[in-house]
Amino acid sequence: MSIQVAIDGPAGAGKSSVSKAVAAKLGFIYIDTGALYRTVALHAIRNGVSTSDVAVAELMKSADIKICYDDDGTQRIILNGEDVSEKIRTPKVSMGASDVAKIPRVRAGLLDLQRNLAKGANAVMDGRDIGTSILPDAAIKIFLTASVDARAKRRFDEYRQKGEPADLEAIKADIKKRDEQDMNRETAPLRQAEDAVLIDTSDMSFSQVVERIKSMIEKIL
Ligand code: C5P
Repeated sequence: MSIQVAIDGPAGAGKSSVSKAVAAKLGFIYIDTGALYRTVALHAIRNGVSTSDVAVAELMKSADIKICYDDDGTQRIILNGEDVSEKIRTPKVSMGASDVAKIPRVRAGLLDLQRNLAKGANAVMDGRDIGTSILPDAAIKIFLTASVDARAKRRFDEYRQKGEPADLEAIKADIKKRDEQDMNRETAPLRQAEDAVLIDTSDMSFSQVVERIKSMIEKIL
């Protein structure tokens, strides 16, 4: 029997790096679902369609989105044959992703793809609605969060490490706006599933978070 782990939470809570590390340690696959919404947003921006326009759902039909993996388990996202894994990591695409994620037909269009990716595999999947909507029967559900200040500081450090310009206050404002939009949308809003375990990482180190989740999974292996 395969084991599915759902990790949801707000922007910048460390979901992707934690999920990726946990998956690597246990030999599970890691699925970053935010990358799908980001890719739809990038496709809209490139085609001159506003990310808030419901027309994005129609435009999505011309986007062939595929996921593949590097040898080290890094997820790559392919849009119409082009690897856009790096191009989707900009502040504009982040906000655009949150816009397109409000459109019910966009969410519906990504549903099967997400479920098929996790089907029959030992998988750690991260997103906003994995425990509540995509994998309601996941064996383990985690809601990973941290204070806005801690999340903004981590994003700031990430940009700095990559040598990219960063403004802490602007990052904080972006995170707040995205959280608000993600929590208040009508379809599959960001919220903790009733059976999810809440982990606040504000005062935890990266390895503490990874170990905590890894040991939860090991208990049911
Ligand atoms: O996780 P990430 O920051 O890459 O997600 C980008 C955006 O995609 C989120 O702000 C959210 O609006 C949307 N998203 C979603 N459901 C998911 C994953 C991401 O609505 N499962």
